[in-house]
Amino acid sequence: MHRSLDLPDAIQSAICVSDSEIIANYCHDWTGRVHGATDLLVRPRTHIEVAQLIRETRRQQMQVQVQGGNTSLAGGSIPLNGEILLSTERLKQIVVEPNSMTATVGAGVTLEDLQREIANHGLSFGVDIASRGSATLGGMAATNAGGIHVLRYGSMADNVIAMTCVFGDGSTIEPRQPLIKDATGPSLTRLLVGSEGIFGVITSVTLRLLALPQQRVAALTPLESIEEGVQISTQLRHLMPEVDAIEYLGPEAIALAPTNPPWNIADGGALLVQALMDAARFAEELSLLHLERQWILTDDTSRRQELWSWRERIPEWIATVGSPLKLDLSVPITRIGDLYRQAMAVASLTGITCYCFGHLGDGNLHVNLVGNNNELTAAAQALYQATLEFGGSISAEHGVGTLKKEALRLMRSPEELARLAALIEVLNPRRVVNPNVMLDIAQGEAHDTSPGME
Ligand SMILES: Cc1cc2nc3c(=O)[nH]c(=O)nc-3n(C[C@H](O)[C@H](O)[C@H](O)COP(=O)(O)OP(=O)(O)OC[C@H]3O[C@@H](n4cnc5c(N)ncnc54)[C@H](O)[C@@H]3O)c2cc1C
Repeated sequence: MHRSLDLPDAIQSAICVSDSEIIANYCHDWTGRVHGATDLLVRPRTHIEVAQLIRETRRQQMQVQVQGGNTSLAGGSIPLNGEILLSTERLKQIVVEPNSMTATVGAGVTLEDLQREIANHGLSFGVDIASRGSATLGGMAATNAGGIHVLRYGSMADNVIAMTCVFGDGSTIEPRQPLIKDATGPSLTRLLVGSEGIFGVITSVTLRLLALPQQRVAALTPLESIEEGVQISTQLRHLMPEVDAIEYLGPEAIALAPTNPPWNIADGGALLVQALMDAARFAEELSLLHLERQWILTDDTSRRQELWSWRERIPEWIATVGSPLKLDLSVPITRIGDLYRQAMAVASLTGITCYCFGHLGDGNLHVNLVGNNNELTAAAQALYQATLEFGGSISAEHGVGTLKKEALRLMRSPEELARLAALIEVLNPRRVVNPNVMLDIAQGEAHDTSPGME
């Protein structure tokens, strides 16, 4: 028998789905590694419907798993224990305020839809990620997504100025006039960005927008080593303020491409740079910086996209050789070469394959491991340890989800985790929303562990 929620008939029939064939499409993740199941999918259309749903779920002592575009690479969007699946895909409103250069968008709006809409107003958004066609602004805020422009515009935390939300206890943050500046105490918006749904459901976000750049050049250069990429990156970041992306394409990942790349392949992979200027000026600046070398330069929009596809299609190519275990590691940029070499050494020792790429300008390497599950787990543990020794993080931008809960314990002290558990208890008691995400609260873990209280 299917579960049902006690909602007004009109809402019930409009938003609840119990067709198992439809539901099955929502129950596995992008990598194909995480699978779940549920008998009830709900697709609310408004903030008010989300609030009704959460209150009713709470009353019936059930739980929900929130899903946006389901592009999580940390297993955070799948109902693992039969939770009701709450998809935000119908929270689709976009309101652009050209004067204040802000947009307020429903949590289910995809990044690509936002980009298209604001371009009509001559505006752009600072955060951009390759999953733009499916990833939603609610999911991006929930995971504090980073992407290709962090070095210039920051991550979602730097670009979300307000939001509406339904907390797990049924209380809400209601819409109000978006303001660029507002210093009225601690911001719940800041608490919710990066919270991965552990406090509640984000129903809309208000974003800071930028003028649409008139010109962009993309430039790719082959590398002898990843360290050479770090040197070039450091020089460009210091001396060329217009740079808005510096990406690394590892040699093993490039080798998976179905066709040969249009540059002379080198042992160290390639560096892809983007800057807010035309190709002629970029070439001139490179020569002033004594960075003349083999560069493919283009400011033509479609050729620029073609060059970018060598970077953005890497995850797709990796998926053709297996279901990768995806590590999203960040280290101080000077240690990125050490991290790459460590990843290759660990892979070779454990007999698995390793493909690296990522946001080199931010010290963020995506390490994709393909092989047998036992070896993958051992390799991941070794790489988490190495990352911590290099002073880094076990998740740069993908979040903790359900796959990195153990690794989170390497990064955060028991006291910090107890504080987080106590906050969940306040905002999302009994974990009505996203019970499996980020941390499993052991008995007593939410209790007061402040000094002197033990
Ligand atoms: C090809 C590819 C490239 C990618 N590139 C990048 C990249 O460059 N940078 C980057 O940061 N990430 C990247 N990602 C990862 C992913 O796209 C991001 O994590 C994205 O922010 C997830 O958005 P989503 O809407 O798909 O969320 P989902 O995958 O549906 O959910 C992610 C998490 O957020 C929670 N959540 C979703 N919506 C809400 C909401 N409204 N309220 C509360 N919680 C919510 C979910 O419960 C889950 O825990 C990439 C993924 C792919 C497949």
